[in-house]
Amino acid sequence: MKKVDIIVVGGGLSGAAIALGLVREGAGKVMMFDEQLPTQRLSRGNFGLTWFMPKGANNPVYARWSRMSTMMWPEFAAKLEEDSGYDVELEWNGGAMHAIGEDQFKAYADSVQTLTKICSDDGLDYPVRMVDRDEFASMIPDMKLGDEVSGAMYSADQGHVNPLPLLGALRCAFQNKGGTYFGGLSVSAVEPNNDGTATVRTSKGNYQCSKVVVAAGHGSTRLLAKLGEKLHIYPLRGQLMVTERVKRVLRFPILSVRQTMDGTFMLGLSTEDTGHDIRVTTEAMKSQATGAIKLFPELAKLNWVRGWGAIRVMTGDGSPIYDRLPEHKNIYVIAGHSAVTLTPVISKHVAAWILEKDEAPQISHFSNGRFNV
Ligand SMILES: Cc1cc2nc3c(=O)[nH]c(=O)nc-3n(C[C@H](O)[C@H](O)[C@H](O)COP(=O)(O)OP(=O)(O)OC[C@H]3O[C@@H](n4cnc5c(N)ncnc54)[C@H](O)[C@@H]3O)c2cc1C
Repeated sequence: MKKVDIIVVGGGLSGAAIALGLVREGAGKVMMFDEQLPTQRLSRGNFGLTWFMPKGANNPVYARWSRMSTMMWPEFAAKLEEDSGYDVELEWNGGAMHAIGEDQFKAYADSVQTLTKICSDDGLDYPVRMVDRDEFASMIPDMKLGDEVSGAMYSADQGHVNPLPLLGALRCAFQNKGGTYFGGLSVSAVEPNNDGTATVRTSKGNYQCSKVVVAAGHGSTRLLAKLGEKLHIYPLRGQLMVTERVKRVLRFPILSVRQTMDGTFMLGLSTEDTGHDIRVTTEAMKSQATGAIKLFPELAKLNWVRGWGAIRVMTGDGSPIYDRLPEHKNIYVIAGHSAVTLTPVISKHVAAWILEKDEAPQISHFSNGRFNV
């Protein structure tokens, strides 16, 4: 049996971010396995926001964790590009969440107040403010706002990336730093051994290692169930749609509408409880298009050319799970939503925790056990 130091199961954003963090921290021989099923496209099929606003209004630790990660993004992207040679297309021009009508504007304003307090209690700033309709319009001079738009919640301190090169860059940097990545390799079981090591059984042979990190998205549920651990995640579908390419006019992303570097508009904000069904539906597309046209009426003139669905890895409180199994302390699990935003903290702080070098105070709040009733 082949022996290595650490095996990461799953090569999506969570797995690739942690694997890169581990090799950067000098973890020894690290391998990452991904089965590459075409249906598992979550890390390629997302919206690409590197975003903290307005996450965690009822969950202060998550609010601070998201803010911390977003603050790390510009430096993280520069280092990632240096280590991989990829351009992840990070644009750090800010981001907004538009409000329709006065009630929504007021609700957003209240949330800004709450989250400013939550972050300041931890010594973090919360650089978000409300902008009224006129100011919002002046920030996007090349597009006309719909009549019902009352203003927006805005932060200059967030942005967006292209998810495709981001995933490629993480995997590439991991390998350039000495890690080994096997795509097309499925892990069937993780088994603890009496000597404190673990055996990872795969479609292409078995491996023995000191630590295993299970970061296989919805694939993690089955692997942990075999170890007697219930992973508290559930599927939540989101659908995205993309237009033809046009001149760039939108200067920063809005939560549900962004324009990519190559000129396409992407939009999507649907959340549907449809199990693992990745199909798209005309109902969701219609509702998303209607919402986008309410914001920018001129989008109605564009041709929509593509759409897809992807299945979020959700938890009951929306924040991630970082844990080690109570009975098998060398087996770790990482799961949850917003892994684009959280890539820097996963790569730095979660990796340092797994290597027992440092434990960020937030980590213990993200246990899987918090959902046990
Ligand atoms: C519509 C939509 C928009 C989104 N927008 C954003 C956004 O703007 N910003 C943001 O931060 N997040 C966003 N997300 C969420 C983000 O996409 C996810 O948080 C992220 O992709 C999760 O990555 P992951 O690695 O945890 O899971 P996955 O991407 O599912 O990766 C798990 C990997 O494990 C592999 N695997 C599974 N089982 C096995 C096995 N037995 N053996 C080997 N490999 C295995 C799979 O092949 C897969 O590649 C969005 C999600 C959706 C659906």
